[in-house]
Amino acid sequence: MIALGVISFLTLFSTAAPYGRHAKTTSGLTIDNRLGWLIMEAPSSLVFFLCWFLGDRPSPPAELLFLVLWQLHYAHRAFIFPFRLINNKKRMPIVIMSTALIFTTANAYLNGRWLFSLSPTRNTMAIADPHVLIGAAIFLLGYAINQYADWVLLHLRKPGETGYKIPYGGLYRWISCPNYFGEIIEWFGFAICTMSFPALVFALWTVGNLLPRARSHHLWYQKTFPDYPLTRKALIPGIF
Ligand code: NDP
Repeated sequence: MIALGVISFLTLFSTAAPYGRHAKTTSGLTIDNRLGWLIMEAPSSLVFFLCWFLGDRPSPPAELLFLVLWQLHYAHRAFIFPFRLINNKKRMPIVIMSTALIFTTANAYLNGRWLFSLSPTRNTMAIADPHVLIGAAIFLLGYAINQYADWVLLHLRKPGETGYKIPYGGLYRWISCPNYFGEIIEWFGFAICTMSFPALVFALWTVGNLLPRARSHHLWYQKTFPDYPLTRKALIPGIF
């Protein structure tokens, strides 16, 4: 997974994944955008839940917290977020959906199986452990940033509109992609909370995926809008 993450990171710096504003007509067969999101993200929620359900139970409270945090993000991302997308005529390349589907299945399995069956530190963590509390707080901070930033984007278009506008408010004051920034914070928070190596690998994957995409979005905004705020960075306030 780490090796694939590095390859994906380097590839995405030269070519943005062809969906959303970076979609290309040459990307082959396509599927309804909402259905694509649902299919590619559903394993994140379902496979992780199955790993808990089929794992060694009863689960201690700390593990129930891990399950709740994961589902807070992924039950929303898979089963609610696709239906909040405004442009219902949009299509997604099947190649994007399929590669994401393989990733989400493997990632949910690695994380769930480790946390609920294989980890030698199972049953030794308590909710009151400092790393669990601090990690959960960081996760929730990232979640709030991600949710608010996505909410701003999803309210830029009026019904029937399909174009792009400059987003303002919240962290958009400083960066072009606070939704990605929040998502990265979330998964590092989850890795701290669970003290799990697969969770750290996932957090690094998220950086590998979203840092180049934030750069592509940022350059696209600067090229598309001559009045784009000059002080705004791509992903990390004041830095990148
Ligand atoms: P984008 O920011 O590219 O788009 C999100 C939605 O907002 C899309 O519906 C998009 O429309 C719309 N939108 C974006 N910018 C504008 C604008 N300036 N004006 C009008 N509408 C706009 O995010 P992604 O689709 O890449 O990701 C969505 C969520 O999924 C994010 O929360 C992200 O963090 C998460 N994600 C996580 C990944 C991970 O590795 N963990 C990987 C990819 C995404 P349109 O589709 O028409 O562009």
